Amino acid sequence: MPEIAEVETIKNDLLEAKILSQKIVDVKIFNPSLINISKKDFSQRIKNSRIINIKRVGKYLIFDLKDKYLIIHLRMTGHIFLKNQNHIFQKHEHFALVFANKKMLVYFDPRRFGKLYLKEDLSSLDKLGSDILSKSFIFESFYEKLKLKKKNIKTLLLDQNFIAGLGNIYVDEALFLAKMHPEKISQNITKKNAKDLFLSIKKVISKAIKNRGTSLGKSRSNFSSINEDFGRHQNHLLVHTKKTCPICLSIIKKIKVNQRTSHFCEKCQK
Ligand SMILES: [Zn+2]
Repeated sequence: MPEIAEVETIKNDLLEAKILSQKIVDVKIFNPSLINISKKDFSQRIKNSRIINIKRVGKYLIFDLKDKYLIIHLRMTGHIFLKNQNHIFQKHEHFALVFANKKMLVYFDPRRFGKLYLKEDLSSLDKLGSDILSKSFIFESFYEKLKLKKKNIKTLLLDQNFIAGLGNIYVDEALFLAKMHPEKISQNITKKNAKDLFLSIKKVISKAIKNRGTSLGKSRSNFSSINEDFGRHQNHLLVHTKKTCPICLSIIKKIKVNQRTSHFCEKCQK
């Protein structure tokens, strides 16, 4: 599932792909169930506009179309590919924007949990917590918010209204780096441990972005960026999907926390 590092990789690649300011000359919608308004309305409102900027907030990818926004959430298996106009559409390619320079942005999603929203403004994202890469993600408010909650830390870090961007993989990795048990109750976390966790989150995400995200397999449904190139961070994971702890060599434990499989080392994480 694409998390902050994967969506950031896609956004950065798109910004370099020379599609900004290009007129959108055609909109192809093969699966209208993924969009929030009617197919006709969606096409009419996007056609002939231009993408003036591309941003990311949490796991949302935002295309600024000047007087409206196309907001995409990739959910489980959504992908954005950049193709040439002679591209032959394949199974699970549900949507495409065709640009005047013959480039084409294609939305591919085998499990179809992704969503595409056309909105007048970004108010629907107001409820999100601080984005981890934004200036508003600061330690003092992170610590204050931890103290107000009585939830286990894994559940809280996955809650996009608490902080925005993390998913199962990077929460496991950050908790391992911070030596913190996934079921630790947030209110009981000391200031020092909270600081370790805060810094671990930043460290894990910045490293994952440098490695262009995590692809846990080689099938087309696994994460890849716009040229269908896989990430490399799966080669640097410390605990998620691992069998033994890289520090103490204990067997990595797998438990369900809030229905998500959590990998952790019982000896190193307290
Ligand atoms: Zn260990």
